[in-house]
Amino acid sequence: MSIFSKIAAGEIPSYCCASNDEFYAFLDINPMVKGHTLVIPRREVDYIFDLTDEELGRFQVFAAHVARAIKSVIPCVKVGEAVLGLEVPHAHIHLIPMQNERDMLFSNPKLQLPAEEMQNIANRIKEAFEKQ
Ligand code: AMP
Repeated sequence: MSIFSKIAAGEIPSYCCASNDEFYAFLDINPMVKGHTLVIPRREVDYIFDLTDEELGRFQVFAAHVARAIKSVIPCVKVGEAVLGLEVPHAHIHLIPMQNERDMLFSNPKLQLPAEEMQNIANRIKEAFEKQ
């Protein structure tokens, strides 16, 4: 079981931002900016482009709903989307609230936010997600 499968199953704690039967969204533990969120399919697939066409479609729609929720609570120009998957072998989309293109540079130093702030950000995204 991948670390992200364990997170989606609630076996490892995470700052949950959104969830349904098929997908799960949670804050990146080493955020590039406040509100940096990961979206995963519950089905364990390493490479995102190995998901079926139908799964990819639903995955992207779910990620769009999460991105709208992020944008409504984190001041930003747009929410950027990126896929790397070089570190964790479980397909995931990064959603990153951007002020400018430099916010999408994965070589940037990562933020260290207090647990209460991470929880507060996740709660606000979740509330906005559930209101849609
Ligand atoms: P990559 O596979 O290159 O897209 O990077 C994996 C991302 O997952 C990194 O941004 C990590 O900070 C993030 N990450 C790894 N473990 C956890 C975790 N337990 N909770 C939240 N984010 C994580």
